Amino acid sequence: MKEIKALIDGFRNFKEEYIEDELGRYRQLAEYGPHSKILMIACCDSRADPAIITNSQAGDLMVIRNIANLVPPYDPNSNFQETQAALEFAVSYLAVEHVVVMGHSRCGGIRSLLTRLIDDADAMLPLEKWTAVAEPAAKHVLKNLAGANLDDQTCACSREALTASLANLRSYPWLLEREQKQKLQVHGWYFNLADGDLQAYDEVNKKFTSLF
Ligand SMILES: [Zn+2]
Repeated sequence: MKEIKALIDGFRNFKEEYIEDELGRYRQLAEYGPHSKILMIACCDSRADPAIITNSQAGDLMVIRNIANLVPPYDPNSNFQETQAALEFAVSYLAVEHVVVMGHSRCGGIRSLLTRLIDDADAMLPLEKWTAVAEPAAKHVLKNLAGANLDDQTCACSREALTASLANLRSYPWLLEREQKQKLQVHGWYFNLADGDLQAYDEVNKKFTSLF
């Protein structure tokens, strides 16, 4: 139970801050609703929390978290509506100005996808069906890095799946329209857990470079 107690202690600290909030930040947020300019799409992994690693505050970020930070191609009839619905809400209702897809190293979701493909097994369970969104990227990595170890293949696949997600974002007509009108920018970031480096994907030169 000590894990749950830590959560309750954390909430106690939060509530003290909430009550002592002299500028009324939380009260404003409660009254006027979210006004986030940024949507981040990140993995469920507890080590890659976008609010923590960007030192953001309540109200700063809208966040979609799913296994392996995947963006499925636009398809109103898809079985994967949750991420699409949240994306639609952020872009069409909140009118966010930036969409950041943030991948990370040593991703367990990507690793499970590679393992399934190495085992030549079909996608049967929900996790397998979801990560199959990144199957083209995974097959490409397994072919190009056939001799590499699974850790290296996983990191390469995380990067490749990230760039595929950026391409998939452009399949959402209302997102593409806002990007073409320069009302929205798309970003691909990659967080390296081992050394804390945060990289951005340069879509022109097709490479990742450190943000600072
Ligand atoms: Zn992950």
